[in-house]
Amino acid sequence: MFSGKELKDYTKLVLSIGVNLQKGQGLEIACPVERRELAHALTQTAYEMGAKIVRVRWDDEVIDKLNFENAQTDVLTKIPKWLVESKEELVKEGFCYVAIAADNPQAFKSVPTKKLSSYYQAKSKALKKFSDQVMSNGIRWCVVSVPTKEWAKQVFPKSRAPEKDLLNAIAKTMRLDHADPLLAWKEHINLLDKRAEYLNQMNFEYLHFKNSKGTDLKVGLAIDHLWLSAKEKAKDGIEFVANMPTEEVFTAPHRLKIDGVVHSALPLCENGQIIDNFTLQFKKGKIVSFSAEKGYDVLKNIIETDKGTLSLGEVALIGKNSPISKSGILFYNTLFDENASCHLAIGKSYPTTVKNGDKLSTAELKRKGVNDSVEHVDFMIGTPDLSVTGISYDGKETVIFKDGEWII
Ligand code: ZN
Ligand code: ZN
Repeated sequence: MFSGKELKDYTKLVLSIGVNLQKGQGLEIACPVERRELAHALTQTAYEMGAKIVRVRWDDEVIDKLNFENAQTDVLTKIPKWLVESKEELVKEGFCYVAIAADNPQAFKSVPTKKLSSYYQAKSKALKKFSDQVMSNGIRWCVVSVPTKEWAKQVFPKSRAPEKDLLNAIAKTMRLDHADPLLAWKEHINLLDKRAEYLNQMNFEYLHFKNSKGTDLKVGLAIDHLWLSAKEKAKDGIEFVANMPTEEVFTAPHRLKIDGVVHSALPLCENGQIIDNFTLQFKKGKIVSFSAEKGYDVLKNIIETDKGTLSLGEVALIGKNSPISKSGILFYNTLFDENASCHLAIGKSYPTTVKNGDKLSTAELKRKGVNDSVEHVDFMIGTPDLSVTGISYDGKETVIFKDGEWII
């Protein structure tokens, strides 16, 4: 685990750049029990910054696995009211929220996929109001990560010190190796902002993705779409960064204007199970067929969750020279892997990715092509030979990505 100055820098980054904790504000942290020292350090720094109260929700995969193996599905899928209420209360009470994503990618490998997805679908449905609020920036939130034992072993299976190796890799992605990490983050955010600005000026109608894997996909963009990057504005007007690290600029696809085939570029870990080498075929915005070499049932359950999981909710661009991509490490963790590769997301769009989207109703958003669902599952499509062409409303084509990298 981080210690000394590195740990202090890390907690400051998460709380100042990430959730941008304000004096007198409450903070909730979701943290794996295995990394309790991180929750302690975050709590300490939060109080130094003037937090009103810090609450921690402990995640424990061992207990979760025992529950999945032993409890009946009808019991598992009864999501307790207190859980739903406690989440919705965070928004009401103006808390900010830090989630530490450090799951063992195969934690629930032995649990029947059907049982697992029944639970996660029930949970997503019960927490829909909260996740809608999160996705429209009704709360300032940030997802970050630190190594855990089982996860590290899978990222560095041959290493004698996998946790240390993963820690070093994460430190780099968090720019902790810079003399002034805070300044390094500010510069990085400005660069991403410029790319988003360019894409907003271009106002493309479509993006066309192509590579040698067989991806040939035209993704229409929502009407009045906005490209966003690291820095976002919450409903209270205060800026925050929702993912650390982040390398992407992203927007909302048009849910009725997606056609062609897309091949996954990296494995996807979803709720403790892995999906790999998969293909989705789209027609008029809907998935009409799909295949997967590994984890077909996991993918099937995601796609069949609700009407919205038949379409896409996000398109994001990341160059192959991003530091995470250049590290060549497959993290088996979407927080990192999605920042190494252009990606799409099955399911809900961020309402903030269209102009004034946080003030529009679901029906109004739908008319602009913005997708709604209880799910939002990112998957990676960027390969070193990926090309992306922007197509304007007048049919003019502009190549924006060549051989997996920005050319603008
Ligand atoms: Zn994304
Ligand atoms: Zn996403």
